Amino acid sequence: MKLKGVKSTFLSLGGVACLLALLIYFQAQWQGQLPLISYLVYPLLVITAVFSAQFNRSRVAILCAFWVIFLTAKSYPEFSSNSLMDDAQWLLLCGASLLMLLAIIKDRDLLSVHSISRLIFIILCGVMTFAWLKLSQNFEFLLPQTDFWLKLLPYIAVTIPLVFIGLLLTWRSLSQNNLTLTALLITLIVWCLNQLNIVALPWSVIAVVLSSFYLFAVSTDSYYLAYRDDLTSLPTRRALNQLALSLGRRYTVAMLDIDHFKKFNDTYGHDIGDQVLKLVAAKMTGVSGGGKIYRYGGEEFTIVFPRKTVEQAIPELDNLRQSIANYDMVIRNPKRTDKSARNTKKNNDYKTVNVTVSIGVAQRTSKQSFDQALKSADLALYRAKKKGRNNVSQ
Ligand code: GH3
Ligand code: MG
Ligand code: MG
Repeated sequence: MKLKGVKSTFLSLGGVACLLALLIYFQAQWQGQLPLISYLVYPLLVITAVFSAQFNRSRVAILCAFWVIFLTAKSYPEFSSNSLMDDAQWLLLCGASLLMLLAIIKDRDLLSVHSISRLIFIILCGVMTFAWLKLSQNFEFLLPQTDFWLKLLPYIAVTIPLVFIGLLLTWRSLSQNNLTLTALLITLIVWCLNQLNIVALPWSVIAVVLSSFYLFAVSTDSYYLAYRDDLTSLPTRRALNQLALSLGRRYTVAMLDIDHFKKFNDTYGHDIGDQVLKLVAAKMTGVSGGGKIYRYGGEEFTIVFPRKTVEQAIPELDNLRQSIANYDMVIRNPKRTDKSARNTKKNNDYKTVNVTVSIGVAQRTSKQSFDQALKSADLALYRAKKKGRNNVSQ
C-alpha cells in the first residue's frame, strides 16, 4: 500500500511544532493579551466550524464543537469541578477516543440521519472511557499474577490505549493524502502534551493554533479536490488553465490520447479501463524535460513544456510514447465473484494488457494564445491518429 500522506503529515507536524515553539519562546509578548485571546477563540472556532461544514468537512466542524464545549467548561470551574471534567485521566482518554472516532467515521452532512448515530457514538466514547477506567482499578486482581502482566500494569489503563490511538491516527494520516486526518493526529499530540503538562500553554492559545491549522487543512484539501483528478491524481483542466496564466512567451504543448480506448473498454470493461488510465497517468509523470502533466478529460492528457521548443520536446515525448507502448500493465481482474477464486490467488486474477498512445505537439508561435497553441496540438494529434496511431506528430 502506498503511503500518500507522508510529506503532508511531516510538513504539518513540523509547522505546528515550530508555531508552538515560537509561542513558548515569545510567551512574555502575548501573555498580556490572554483575556482577549480567550474571548476571540470562540468566534474563531465558530467560523472554522461553519467554513468546514460548508466544504463538507463535518468532522472538523464536530472537532470545533468539542473545543467550544471544552473551553466553556474550563472557563466555569464552578460547574466543571467535582465532575468528570475534573478527572484528568478520563478527560485525557476521552479526548483521545473521540479523536479516534473522528478518524474512523466519514465526512457526512451534519444535518443527515447519520448525525443521530454519531451523537450516540460520541456519548458512548465518554461512557466507555469511564467504564474502562473504573475496570482498570481492578486490573490488579483480574489479570494473571505473572511478571509480564505486573510490569505492564501501570500502563494498561491510559498509556497503552493512548499509544494504540496514536499509532492508528499516525497510520491514517500517513496512508492518505487528507489533511483532515493530519489535523486529527496533530490535535491528539497537542492534546496529550498539554494535558500531561509537557507543553503547558493556555488552552485558549492551543485552540487558536489548532483552529488556524483546521482552516488551513480544510482550504488546502478543498483546493486539492478542485484541482486534482480523483481517478489519476493528476492536475485537472482547471489547473491547466491556471498554469496558462503564468506561462512565458516560449513553451510547447502536447496532447496525448490513448489509442482505440473505446474498443479497449468494450473488450475488458470500464473498470479495467479505469485501472489502465491510472497506470498510464503514473507512467506519464515520469516524463523528463520538465513536462507538466494534466488530465484534459476522458482518456486525453496535456503535457506542457515551459521554455522548451518543439524540437526539445519531441524526443521526451517519443520516449514517453515508447515507454507506454512497451509497458506490460498488470491489472486485477474485477470479475472475481466466486469465493474460491477470491481465496486462491489464481493466475486468472491478474492479466497483462498493453495500450499505445498518439501524441500531437505544437510550439506556441508569437501572438498565439494558450488556447490557440492547444488547438494546434490537437490538430497535430489528429494527424498522429491519421498516420496510424502510436506516434508523435507535429
Ligand atoms: P482513438 O484511437 O481514435 O482515440 O479511439 P478511441 O476509442 O480512444 O476514441 P475516443 O477518443 O472517441 O474514445 C474515448 C473513449 O475513452 C470513450 C470512453 O469509453 C473512454 N473513456 C473516457 N473517459 C474514460 C474514463 O474515465 N474511464 C474509462 N474506463 N474510459 C473512459
Ligand atoms: Mg479521445
Ligand atoms: Mg482515444
